[in-house]
This record gives sequence, C-alpha cells and structure tokens, in this order.
Amino acid sequence: MTIQNVFVIGAGQMGGGIAQVCAQAGYQVTLHDINEEAYNSGFQVITKNLSRNVEKGRMTEEEKQEVIGRFTKSLDLQNAKSADIVIEAALENMEVKKTIFAELDEIAPEHTILATNTSSLPITEIAAVTKRPGKVIGMHFMNPVPVMQLVEIIRGLATDDEVYMAVEEMTRKLKKTPVEVNDYPGFVANRVLMPMINEAIFTLYEGVATKEAIDDVMKMGMNHPMGPLQLADFIGLDTCLYIMETLYEGFGDSKYRPCPLLRKYVKAGWYGKKAGRGFYTYD
Ligand code: NAD
Repeated sequence: MTIQNVFVIGAGQMGGGIAQVCAQAGYQVTLHDINEEAYNSGFQVITKNLSRNVEKGRMTEEEKQEVIGRFTKSLDLQNAKSADIVIEAALENMEVKKTIFAELDEIAPEHTILATNTSSLPITEIAAVTKRPGKVIGMHFMNPVPVMQLVEIIRGLATDDEVYMAVEEMTRKLKKTPVEVNDYPGFVANRVLMPMINEAIFTLYEGVATKEAIDDVMKMGMNHPMGPLQLADFIGLDTCLYIMETLYEGFGDSKYRPCPLLRKYVKAGWYGKKAGRGFYTYD
C-alpha cells in the first residue's frame, strides 16, 4: 500500500496541523474545507508556523517554499478522487462524519484509506456507512499537531491488518509515535483526560475555587504543563462537550454527564481560544 497523496478534511486547528506535518514529511497534500474563510485562515496559520520554523533555524526558506508547494486547495469533496488516504478532521459530530464518509466512499478510489481524527466517536459506526469498512481507521492526533508526539491509532471492528500497518508506517514517517488502541468511546486519551476536565468545570461551577486557582492546583500540584480549564479552552469547549456526550451515551454511566456550565458556555458560543473567549479571554 503506497501512500503519496493525502486529502485532509477540515482546515481548523487539527486539520491544519495534520496537513502541515504531512507536507513537511514529503506527502502531496490537498487541504479541504467547506468554508473558504476557514480554509484561508487555516492556511495562514500553516504558513505562520512554517515561517516561525525558518526564524528559529529549524528549516531554510527554500524548504519552507517546498513544503508550501506540496499544498493544493480544495473546496469540493470531489477532489478526494486522487487520494491514497483521507484524514478527516471536521466537527466532532456523528451525523457530520457519517455524511462525509458516505460521500467519500462514492468519490474516492477503491484503494483509498479513510481515516478519521475523531477524538471519541466509534470508528466502527462511521465505517458502517461505507462499503469498505476494512479501510476505515481512527488516526487520533494530539493538539497542537506539529508539537505533540502521540497518534492513537484506532482499529474499528472490521479494520484490515494491512490498513493498520500502512497507517502505522505513515505515522512514523510523520515523525510521530503510533499507539494501538481498540474502538471504545473516548479510546484511551479522552476516556482519561476528559472526565478530569469535566470535573474541573464542576469544581468551578460549585464555587470550590476560582478558575485560576483550579488551574494553579493542577499545574503546581500535579506538574501538568497547563491547567485543565485552560486546556479545555485550547481543545475547544464545543469539542469537549461532544466528547463528554459520546462517553455519557456510549457507556450509559452518569459519571460521564457533562457539567451544566460546559453546556452553558457552548450555548453562548464561548468555544475557548478559537472563539476568543472560553473560561479565559484571548486576543
Ligand atoms: P475546528 O472547529 O478548529 O475545525 C473544524 C473545521 O472543519 C472548520 O474549519 C470547519 O469549517 C470544517 N468543517 C466543518 N464541517 C465540514 C465539512 N462537512 N466538510 C469539510 N470541512 C468541514 O475543530 P478541530 O479542533 O480542528 O477538531 C476537528 C476534529 O478533530 C474533531 O473531530 C475533533 O474531535 C478532533 N480532535 C480535536 C482535538 C482538539 O484538541 N481540538 C484533538 C484531537 C482531535
């Protein structure tokens, strides 16, 4: 299975980062979004990141131009017809992902691997809307993608071994470390992380401490590089809520119920850093 052309769906914080590391590793990358404004701001972030790499001496200006030259812009899903692998990083919403995967299954050639960067949604259920469940797999990158080492690789119930091996090999080419995980809600990363973030939000909701105090306790007391409320802002509060709902629904256990304060912030459009406001405010 040779992978040369990568088609990334969603030019947001994750899709942009995934596209960047793929282009840096030498893959031809088509970056796709439904929204042109979102595409443009996503691509701007990528070029800024690359310029910072040049300033810091991590790459030359010539290398930066080569990486940029590997990008193709897409606003039409039909462009997935020349992809060897699609990595989907659109919204954390099952209906959105099912619609995208059903369409992709019609557009992409038979050999194309369909990967999703979902944080928590069942790979097996997404695969079931396609006629190629053996070629559907989870490829869960961490945020920020250019910096973080780990990629959780999630096997759906029907994922073929050769597809798993090809994705593992690609992950190493991206200079990341793959970890194999089975398909259960939240996988490993968010099954452990998100209830902690949700509990931190409950702690704020119940007035146990201020947001700064909660973050300080976890930073200084537990040696976490960032407090849980700040981390939630960086992840996106909408994404955090989607993940908690997936855990709650998937396990049917009340210990995963999302905090009402999290719901309230999402309803207000306070999605965190990307919206300029979450638990904290951002320029
Ligand atoms: P984001 O809101 O920053 O970006 C989503 C992008 O997808 C937007 O640019 C939007 O215009 C685009 N989009 C929406 N619907 C689309 C469609 N139908 N077709 C094409 N593009 C579409 O979100 P994000 O934080 O990048 O998250 C994307 C995915 O990655 C989610 O599934 C999320 O759970 C997962 N993820 C997020 C994080 C994180 O820390 N934010 C970490 C790992 C995985």
